[in-house]
Amino acid sequence: MKNAKIGTKCVQGGYRPGNGEPREVPIIQSTTFKYNTGEAMAKLFDLEESGYFYSRLQNPTCDIVAAKVCEIEGGTAAVLTSSGMAANFFAVFNICSSGDHIVSSSAIYGGTFNLFAVTIKRMGIDVTFVSPDCTEEELNAAFRPETKLLFGETVSNPSLDVLDIEKFAKAAHAHGVPLIVDNTFPTPINCRPFEWGADIVTHSTTKYMDGHGSAVGGVIVDSGNFDWTKYADKYPGLCTPDESYHGVTYTERFGLGGAYITKIVAQLMRDLGSIPAPMSAYLLNLGIESLQVRMKKHCENGLAVAKFLEAHDQIEWVNFPGLESCKSHALASKYMPDGTCGVVSFGVKGGREAAGAFMEKLNIIAIETHVADARSCCLHPATTTHRQMSDEELLSAGVSPDLVRLSCGLEDAEDLIADIAQALEAIKN
Ligand SMILES: *Cc1c(COP(=O)(O)O)cnc(C)c1O
Repeated sequence: MKNAKIGTKCVQGGYRPGNGEPREVPIIQSTTFKYNTGEAMAKLFDLEESGYFYSRLQNPTCDIVAAKVCEIEGGTAAVLTSSGMAANFFAVFNICSSGDHIVSSSAIYGGTFNLFAVTIKRMGIDVTFVSPDCTEEELNAAFRPETKLLFGETVSNPSLDVLDIEKFAKAAHAHGVPLIVDNTFPTPINCRPFEWGADIVTHSTTKYMDGHGSAVGGVIVDSGNFDWTKYADKYPGLCTPDESYHGVTYTERFGLGGAYITKIVAQLMRDLGSIPAPMSAYLLNLGIESLQVRMKKHCENGLAVAKFLEAHDQIEWVNFPGLESCKSHALASKYMPDGTCGVVSFGVKGGREAAGAFMEKLNIIAIETHVADARSCCLHPATTTHRQMSDEELLSAGVSPDLVRLSCGLEDAEDLIADIAQALEAIKN
């Protein structure tokens, strides 16, 4: 499968059934696995042999789907998590401890912003936020000796800023730390961050990868490119023996391609849980099978709706990286030439109140705290997903109080446009 194109990997990656085995990914709905001797199981516990013993650590269905995502991102190892938030938390906590520091783009998902600004601070991990548009000097100035990673979103939710991945990777590597990017919105169909220098990729698979609003989930993929051993003092968790796991040194035993993900499984999954159910992994796999076909349609619908909105006199502004007028257009053309995603944000003339009235008049497009599934939906972040943030934080995350986030689904664009047109007509006074 290694040399196959991405759409083929989406359909068949991760699983090659043998003679007489199920063609479809089997759901191994079992918490535990049987062994004939205690010694056989002990070897698994010692990470001397690979195999299954308890589904909090590993499950065959989840591993198949993780392997598929790993193939389509072009990584060396991957692990599924129970949510996108768990993926982002584990990606950071795997290499940070109390006293450490991270640098993050300020244009990130509201939940991740809160994780960094509030929750991991309580664990003694400090954060500096930088604008994704910052200069190289400003970016470099944010690093400290105790900085362990740089974080960003390839296309930010909901502000739709496109990350200058090369600029961020260059700064991260100049300071001897990995660049971790959340690639949820473009998915590997539209953007493959490892090809631009990112070291680790996370996803909320709840969004386009699942694509049908059926299962919350996340994934972490390692490129295997970051050389932890070059900075062994900075990453003792990966480069020195783990006394909580029989003295294993992850980089020695599993190499650069496997150390980071194995540590997540052996330590963080063991101690904190956050595994998906095998059934959820199975549903995710069904979604990924059609990911390439769906992303194309989401992007087409997004562009058609964005163009309609841009030409409408009741619309104050439109943000969609596919529009030439959008500030992220140049970066989107470079990193995601086939399109970004189906999410469009815009302001309705009349501000916060007009946005609310408009949304209530929609018939096909539903008001939901979701994006990126088959059914079109919309949301007013300032009063929902981002309500914990101050006006100042909102603006630095690129979310204006009048912003409506519209996720274009897989319906016909003509119907979405007609729905928007009638709702705008209905609020005219
Ligand atoms: C939704 C989202 C998350 C959080 O994922 P959950 O699956 O809801 O936990 C993280 N990052 C981005 C970009 C998201 O859109």
